[in-house]
Amino acid sequence: MIKSLRGMNDILSEDYERFTYFINTATHVAQKYGFHFIETPLLEETALFKRSVGASSDIVGKEMYQFIDKGKNDVCLRPEGTAGVVRAFIQKKLDKAGGVHRFFYHGSMFRYERPQKGRLRQFHQFGVESFGIDSVYEDANMIMMVADILVACGIGYRLQLNSLGDANCMPAYRESLVHFVTQCKDEVCEDCIRRLDLNPIRVLDCKNEKCQSLYVNAPKLINNLCQACENDFTKLKQILDTNNINYEIDTNLVRGLDYYSKTAFEFVSDNIGSQSAIAGGGRYDRLVEFLDGRPTPAVGFAMGIERLMELIQMPEVKKEGYYIGALDEDAIDLVVQLAQKKRKTDKVNIEYKAKNFKNHMKAVDKVNAKYFCIIGSNEIQSGTIIVKDIENKTEEKITIQEF
Ligand SMILES: [Zn+2]
Ligand SMILES: [Zn+2]
Repeated sequence: MIKSLRGMNDILSEDYERFTYFINTATHVAQKYGFHFIETPLLEETALFKRSVGASSDIVGKEMYQFIDKGKNDVCLRPEGTAGVVRAFIQKKLDKAGGVHRFFYHGSMFRYERPQKGRLRQFHQFGVESFGIDSVYEDANMIMMVADILVACGIGYRLQLNSLGDANCMPAYRESLVHFVTQCKDEVCEDCIRRLDLNPIRVLDCKNEKCQSLYVNAPKLINNLCQACENDFTKLKQILDTNNINYEIDTNLVRGLDYYSKTAFEFVSDNIGSQSAIAGGGRYDRLVEFLDGRPTPAVGFAMGIERLMELIQMPEVKKEGYYIGALDEDAIDLVVQLAQKKRKTDKVNIEYKAKNFKNHMKAVDKVNAKYFCIIGSNEIQSGTIIVKDIENKTEEKITIQEF
C-alpha cells in the first residue's frame, strides 16, 4: 500500500471543516482591513529564498526542498510565504508605481524537518503583507488583525512585543552585544559562538539555559534605540493600550536578518506545549530593496494553521437543507428529480436506495439536514408529500408540485 510521505498529511472530514473555518474567518478579517488575496507559485528559484530568508538560516541551510528541474534550474518549494509575495510585488512593478498595496495569502509551505506534533513537512500558513506605509499605525493594524482572527476563532493568546531598531541604531547595538558575548565566550554554547560571526543578534533567542542566564545582563536593544525608533515604539504601545490589546515586552524576541526593523511581535499560546508561537510578524522595511526593488516600507505577519487547528473553537453546526429518500424502488426517479430542482436554492442530500422510515431517520441525523421528506408509492399516487422540519419538530403536507 502506498502511503503519504512522512510529515505530509491529508486534510479531510472534521479537520477539513476546521481548516476551512479558519481560512474563511481569517479571510473575512483580512478583507475587513482592506487586504486582497494574492496567489504565488509553490515553486520558486532557490536564489529567492537564499537572499530573503538568508543563507545562514536553518531553513535555507537544512530544510529546503531544493532540486534541479529538467530545465537545469535550481528551484525550491517555498518554505515560507513572504519571499514570493515580495518577488511578485517587484515583478509587477508595484514598487515603482508607489502607493499602498495590501495582500493576504494562504497555502502550503514546505520544510524538510523532523516531523513532530503541530510541525509538518508540508504545512499551511495564512499571512498578510502590507507595502508602502512606514507609519507605526500599520504595525498596530497588523497586530489588531491577528488579535481579531484569534478572537473570532475563540483562541486565547499572549502578545509579545519588541523593537529591533533600524539601520541607524542597530549596528552600534550589535557591536555592544558582540562585545558582551565575547567577554563570556568561554561559558556560552557552541551555537552562540557560531552566531557571533554569522548573526550575533540571534544569540538572544538561544534556547540554551546557561546562555539565557548569562544574557540576562546583556545590553537591551530597546534601551539603545535612536529617537525615531523610540518614538515609534512608544506610539505603538500607546495605540495598543487605547485599543485594549494586552502585550508583554520581550527583549529577546529577535529576527536574524538585516532587513527586519523596528516592530517585531509574536502571539503565543499556553495551551499547546510551553510557549508555542501561533503567529509572528513585524516590519521589514528593507526587504524590497534587498530583492532589487525600489526601497519600500513593509510590514506583515504569518500564522501556522496546523498549530492552531486544535485550538479553534468551532461554532455549533446548524441543521441545514433537505434530506430526500425513497421508501420503495419506484420512487427513486422522482426523488432524484425533486432533489435536482431543490438544489437550485438549497443543500440536498439524497439516498439512492429504497429504505424503511426508521433507516432514513438514522441517515438524516448523519447529514444534519433541517428538512426531511420521504417518498413512496402512496405519495406518488396522491401527489402529496410530508415535509418534516426536524429542528422545530413540525410537519407540513404539500403537493409534489409545490415542493
Ligand atoms: Zn547559546
Ligand atoms: Zn533606530
